[in-house]
Amino acid sequence: MQLRHFQNEFPYLVKALLSAKKAGRLSHSFLIHNDDGKLADDFSISLAQALACTNPLPDGDSCGNCVVCKQLEHRTYSELFTLAPVSKSRQIVIGVDDTIPDTMRWFRSLFHMKSSMAGGIKIGIIYDADCMNDESQNCFLKTLEEPPPSSHVLLVTANPFTLLPTIRSRCQSILLLRNKTSYEDEKIRGIAGIMWELMSSSNKISTAEECAFAMISISDNLEKFAEEKADVKWDRIFEDSKYLEPPAKKRLEKQHEAAISAEYLKMRDSMLSLIHSWSAQAYMLSCGIPRDSIANPELFPRDLNVISSIDPEKAYRMMRKSEDLLQILNWNVDTDLAFREFCMGVEFGK
Ligand SMILES: [Zn+2]
Repeated sequence: MQLRHFQNEFPYLVKALLSAKKAGRLSHSFLIHNDDGKLADDFSISLAQALACTNPLPDGDSCGNCVVCKQLEHRTYSELFTLAPVSKSRQIVIGVDDTIPDTMRWFRSLFHMKSSMAGGIKIGIIYDADCMNDESQNCFLKTLEEPPPSSHVLLVTANPFTLLPTIRSRCQSILLLRNKTSYEDEKIRGIAGIMWELMSSSNKISTAEECAFAMISISDNLEKFAEEKADVKWDRIFEDSKYLEPPAKKRLEKQHEAAISAEYLKMRDSMLSLIHSWSAQAYMLSCGIPRDSIANPELFPRDLNVISSIDPEKAYRMMRKSEDLLQILNWNVDTDLAFREFCMGVEFGK
């Protein structure tokens, strides 16, 4: 399958990749952030074909017909090396030595071996790259720092934020997200307004502090919001359960608590996803991508003059900082401090 096959669904992505290919500006390493495994699998092979095809089309796409294209399609290309989690623990481990299949050391030894094919392009694909544990990631970092000649490596993942920042920063990000998230909860959508505030201010400590405070306040109140939301339904259930026996009542209370914590987790995920997705879309807008081509135009001002005032450098910084923020919040850390550092970092680039 050629890259142009994905043009309808991801027109800007395909256009950007092909023009970079034509100009010889394609990265050595890619991070394919996806929410659909089959799509990501097809796309990574198409990208591999575009990178390794021996008879590319004038626009940079693969021919789809040469031996390399055919072999890649059938996964029989001798210079294609893949790694994926296989153990029950779903981890990609480093391995004791390079002889144990499906480990990082094994993958690296094959990927760095002298090519059997003169002039051939090596392709490494790591599926579910977030399953690499820290040790594997550190080991893999050496491949990113000193890749074998004429090689490209593709990391495929649904959770890029669990990867080390040093890995993410060395890869060109490819956003292959099919499911557009809608942010229906009003309280969560409040985050978009704060993000805009932060984006449009210029080097003001007070704005950065106000924005951090507003984010912290939403984050601190999530549990309360979740309870309110769950109780719309549960008030009636409790009303109907007045005449139940105590053990049945107790069971209901347990279910009630579980419903609140499920709602809380959902809202928290949604908030974090909004922070990241908003900044990624702001960055797209700052690069000139039209407002109606982004996933959530409803989260941005309608006025095109206002949109064109977004500073690309700041938008890029916000996107990177939001990736860091998500990763930090995955650990159990001081949330207030994390939000403050995020807002200050976006505002002053530290
Ligand atoms: Zn070809």
